[in-house]
This record gives sequence, structure tokens and C-alpha cells, in this order.
Amino acid sequence: MNSKPRVLNFIDGAFVQGEGRDTFPNVNPIDGSLNGLVESATREDVDRAVQAARRAMRGPWGRSSMAERGDLLHRIADRIIERFDEFLAAEVADTGKPHSLASVIDIPRGAANFKSFADVIRAHGDDAYHTHTPSGLALNYTVRAPRGVVAVVCPWNLPLLLMTWKVAPALAAGNAVVVKPSEETPSTTALLADVMREVGLPDGVFNVVNGFGPDAPGQWLCEHPDVDAITFTGESSTGEAIMRSAASRLRDVSFELGGKNPALVFADCDLDAALEGTTRSVFANCGQICLQTERVYVHRSIFDEFTERLTASAAGLVRGRPEVPGVDMGPLVSQGHRDKVLSYYAKARAEGAEVRFGGGVPVMGDGLDGGFWIEPTIWTGLPETASVVTDEIFGPCCHVQPFDDEDEVLHMANDTDYGLAASVWTKDLSRAHRVARELEVGICWVNSWYLRDLRTPFGGAKRSGIGREGGHYSLDFYTELRNICVAL
Ligand code: NAD
Repeated sequence: MNSKPRVLNFIDGAFVQGEGRDTFPNVNPIDGSLNGLVESATREDVDRAVQAARRAMRGPWGRSSMAERGDLLHRIADRIIERFDEFLAAEVADTGKPHSLASVIDIPRGAANFKSFADVIRAHGDDAYHTHTPSGLALNYTVRAPRGVVAVVCPWNLPLLLMTWKVAPALAAGNAVVVKPSEETPSTTALLADVMREVGLPDGVFNVVNGFGPDAPGQWLCEHPDVDAITFTGESSTGEAIMRSAASRLRDVSFELGGKNPALVFADCDLDAALEGTTRSVFANCGQICLQTERVYVHRSIFDEFTERLTASAAGLVRGRPEVPGVDMGPLVSQGHRDKVLSYYAKARAEGAEVRFGGGVPVMGDGLDGGFWIEPTIWTGLPETASVVTDEIFGPCCHVQPFDDEDEVLHMANDTDYGLAASVWTKDLSRAHRVARELEVGICWVNSWYLRDLRTPFGGAKRSGIGREGGHYSLDFYTELRNICVAL
């Protein structure tokens, strides 16, 4: 008899339990212990969740005003903050990330998404065109209708934050959603379901189905014929699989996918700022942020100093239990993911990298060695064709490469299948604008990293994504734009 808590599916306004559903373990990455069990949704559960969402769209929710939805979204945000400690504990137990990170990024920003999208979309106006014809005048104007039932398929690296980044605009625009959290990190989505119930969101508007992806609830949801659109964050190869599911009945997709993001450090940069920013952009969240830097290009004249100081910064990172003050690095999310990252550590050595720092698994002690800890790692000396320079690793590691001029570094930075993010470090304003425009990415930071304004467009080029979300740009995916033409 297992007394650990169970994470349940949430369908049509209620948690559903038991009756032949498979379970799978929810493992704590800190020490490998069992957080509890997760009930996997059956195919029937997925169908019931989609049908509940469809019914909700046909009911009062489908005719609700933006003002009503905005008020509800504000209440959701407030309730997340009131239950902050529960959300924090759940997120940390699933991911192992330090409190210092989750308490300033994951939970507050996860809550803020609801207020931000409610306010942006409430303020958004429609377009009107006056049309002169030989026989008179016509008025054209646009209206935005919700898409209907939206499937939201989520990753594990920022579970609450990235899920609410999709759910908030979907609900603000009047859709109903079925969320499939990552199998690694289901707990904060279940807590959010409880919040939805508490604030009185109508039954069926927010549903959660747990489980794995291929031939499992993820795929069943994306293939379901009553899903109108699919928004997904995760690996590029998963995006390809979901796109095949979306092809039947020609459903629209919004994809935020993988990256292999470069940082370009010019000789005229503020070196302290570039080092501080690059240390964060490589190692924050143990390297598990899609916007993370994995390729660092440094002008040859400052290459040695920069690399030595970045190595010293990596050496100064403090690993440990999430709640301990001063800890700034947690473990990787799972044994499977650590195996993948370690396989790249081995490839780097085999391909002739100079390992400037790390490269292995640390001895933690304190009962933590069953967790998925890994050393922050810095390589130099590899050609641009090496696996760790071309493939997304999604771990706390980077390769540092010297460059001689702007054209050369632009060529190297753009010579990748990915196009998510980049950082440019320079004090030369002309260079900053010139280089930023040339980088084939969805977001380019100049003298910063991960500085986000939720009103701006977010998404990736090339294999890093399809579409843009954020602010009013989210309306392009979460609403159907209609034109009404009135002959006057
Ligand atoms: P993943 O693609 O393995 O899984 C993401 C989700 O997709 C999970 O819920 C999984 O169960 C589901 N899934 C898997 N196969 C499926 C299928 N065939 N049909 C339907 N659903 C399926 O990604 P992950 O490992 O959870 O997350 C890490 C990846 O996410 C990295 O590549 C990272 O770069 C990317 N990411 C991108 C962004 C962005 O904004 N661009 C943000 C965060 C993470």
C-alpha cells in the first residue's frame, strides 16, 4: 500500500481517480526518491477531456465577455500567489531547482502570465476599413473569435511558467484547453487545476491529462479530431511528430522548440557584464532553459581572459539542496536526461575537446548521490562541426570558440539548424544594431540575457519554432480572425 500522494487527471471540473488507470513514478531529482505516483490518462480520459472542453465552448464560456474572463484570470493569478508555498514546494520537488530560482522566476512569473495576457488582450482593439465602391461605401471590420478547443503540450524545464504562458492567452481569448504536462513534472499543473476549481472557472474550460507522449496521452490528444489547434513547447523532433498528428483535419500549430544559442562577445564589451550574463545564460537552471547559451564566441584578443574567468565563475557555482540559502545550481531533471547530457560530455572528449572545467558527475554526499547531479562544463578547441557545437544538449555546458572579425562570427553563429535566441556583448552601438539584425533568431539580446517583456513577440526561426506568442501576437494563434463587410 503506497501512502505517497497521487497526481490525478482533471476532467470537466473534477479530479478523476483509479479504475484501471496505469500509474508511473514521479521522481525527485535531488536524491532519486519517490515523490509519489501519477495516474496516466486513458484514451477514454483524453476523449472525455476534449468533449468536456467542447461542451464548455458551447455553453456560457463560449459567449463570455473579455471583461468577465479578465476578472477570472486576475483571480487565478492572485490565488497562485496566495498558495505560493505549495506551488514552490511542488515545482522544486519535481525539478530539483533551487528555491532562489523558482521563487523569483517560475512561480511569480507563472502567476503574472494570467494578469499580463488578461490586460493585453482586454486592451486590444479591432481593425476597420472604409471601402469606396462605384455604388457607394462599405465598412469592413474585424472580429476575433476563439479557436475552440486548444491542446497545450508542455515540457519539464519551467513547468508552471511555460504552461501558463500558453493557458493564459488561450483562456483570455475565450478558448477551452486540454493540458498535457510533461510526465516528469505534473505537480504544479494539478495544483493549477485546483486553483481553477477554487476561482469558479466553468467546468470543462481547463482539463489536464497526464502521461507520456508517443502512443500515449500526448499523441492521443494531438490526434483527437475535436481538437482545433495545438500549442506545444519541447524538442524539435517532437514538434515534427506533433505536426504529423496536426496534419489530419489541417489543425493549426504554434511551436516553441529547441535551440543552440550563441553568445557573441566582442573585444569592446563590458567584460564584467558579459561574464556575469554568460555565466547565467550557460548555467542557470542547470542549463535547462531553451534560451540557454551553448556556443560562446569570444574575440581572440580577450579569449584567454574570458575563458579563464568563465571557468572561475563555473567553479564558484554552489550545488546543494534547493532550500539552502546560497545554492544556485540544482540537478538535471531525470536519470534519462543526465544520461543524454553525459553522452555529450563523452563525445566532447572523444572529439578532442580541451575540458576547461567539469565533465563529469560530482560527489555530493549528504544523501544526495542518488540524485541527477552533474558538473558544469566548459570546452574549448573543437571545430564547428563537433557534436557538442552542433546539437542541442540542454545541460550546463558550453563550447568557447575564438573569432577574429564580425563576418566570421556571424557566419559561425548562423551556421546552425536552430534559430531561437542570441546574445551580443559590445559597447559599440552601431555594431550592436548591425549584428543583431543579421542574427537568424527569434530574440536577440544586446548586453543582457533573459530580459523578458511579456508584450513582445516570442518564438524561434528555423527548427526552433513556428509562430510567435506574447502580448497581442498571441491573438494570431488563439483566435480566428473574421472580417465582416457591411454595404452602407
Ligand atoms: P519533449 O519534446 O521531449 O516533450 C515535451 C512534451 O511533449 C512532453 O509533455 C511529452 O510527453 C510530449 N510528447 C512527446 N512526444 C509526443 C508526441 N509524439 N505527441 C504528443 N506529445 C508528445 O521536450 P522536453 O524534453 O520535455 O523539453 C525539453 C525541450 O524543450 C528542449 O528541446 C528545449 O529546447 C525545448 N524547449 C523550448 C522552449 C521554447 O520556448 N522554444 C522552451 C522550453 C523548452
